[in-house]
Amino acid sequence: MFVALKQNGERLNLLQPLGKELLQEMREREVFFCPVCESEVQLKLGTRKKYHFAHKRTMVCKLDLEPESAYHLAGKEMLYHWFKTQGFLTEPEVYLPSIRQRPDLLLTRANVQAAVEFQCSPIPTKRFLERTHSYWREGLRVLWILGGNQYKRYAAHWLRLSSFPALFAQNRIPYVLYFCPDHASFFKCSPLLPFSSSTSFAHTFVHRISSATISSIFSPSLFSFEQLGQQWLQKKKRWRMGQFLHMRRGYEEFFQYMYTKGISPSRLPAEAGVPLPSLLAIQTPAIIWQSLILFDLIEPMRAGESLPFWQIVRYVEQHSVIQRRVLPYYPFSYFKRTLKEYMAFLCASDLIELVSGQTYRRKQVSIVPQTEGEAFARDEEAMKHALLLFRNEQSATSAAEKRI
Ligand SMILES: [Zn+2]
Repeated sequence: MFVALKQNGERLNLLQPLGKELLQEMREREVFFCPVCESEVQLKLGTRKKYHFAHKRTMVCKLDLEPESAYHLAGKEMLYHWFKTQGFLTEPEVYLPSIRQRPDLLLTRANVQAAVEFQCSPIPTKRFLERTHSYWREGLRVLWILGGNQYKRYAAHWLRLSSFPALFAQNRIPYVLYFCPDHASFFKCSPLLPFSSSTSFAHTFVHRISSATISSIFSPSLFSFEQLGQQWLQKKKRWRMGQFLHMRRGYEEFFQYMYTKGISPSRLPAEAGVPLPSLLAIQTPAIIWQSLILFDLIEPMRAGESLPFWQIVRYVEQHSVIQRRVLPYYPFSYFKRTLKEYMAFLCASDLIELVSGQTYRRKQVSIVPQTEGEAFARDEEAMKHALLLFRNEQSATSAAEKRI
């Protein structure tokens, strides 16, 4: 940590420009205390890490601090200086006793206060939620920035996105923000479209901290629909072909389900496993949950029969296989938007039609392709319809911004 109390109770902030000599001299004559637990801390003036304070015995502190890594300290320092240049009153490590939290940075501008947490190691979901909600209860906004050491890209447009970094996702076009002190850069990953439970399509937008501004980082990042279409189709083709068997891990039970229907993976419906703007809401792979809707709800419908939207919602809520994702920045009902998008997609694909308000009727089109060739051709058609949803979403987002 960068802040400690002196014997006279004053805060000493190591992020202010103080020379090493002065600090060495202070270390000779002063004793320093942790602002949270009031136990004695040591001033560390080594070369490997930024100058910082450390508890003499780490286990005594109320905040149960793990020793801070050099990476975390370096990033926190750079973010501190950067937020100051962005016109925020920026204070490091302010302890908020009412909620027993000590954000890495506390920002104030006009009447708005925000806590910044720079998280370089995974923490349990429960703790993430507790901390986030406690800030909100105090009327603070909270900006979580992931350490760049958690950034796991494995191909130009694909990110390993486990449930931990997904917690950080926010915005209508979801993004996650990373900061890497080694690269002196922010990495903004968007739009976060999970193909499987751990792999997501995302562009990475790099903003060097030397030229980044708040508005350059937080304005919506426009990604290429063409790239999304190509990349997604390629991945789905490989999945169909079983080219990379590891891609099919986690699908065993689903294959059994398909087997009972006499459908091989290569003849998976083209309308299953399509990207949707709010796809992040559902943790279960799109191939699985969309197939379940197609086979359990759409296919059994007889001519003239209709399916109300609430029935689809209830089906998804009650199905043990379909898991929603924990996303603290989104309303609990976020998955309903995903389902709405999927229904709109199925309408555009001519499998169903909207009869009135929120009720759908099946059209007499076969859901299962007869051959692999037909499956690939229909995949391309389906992708066009899915991309249309993204185009509409993007124009809706920019229209909403113009109003603000
Ligand atoms: Zn302490």
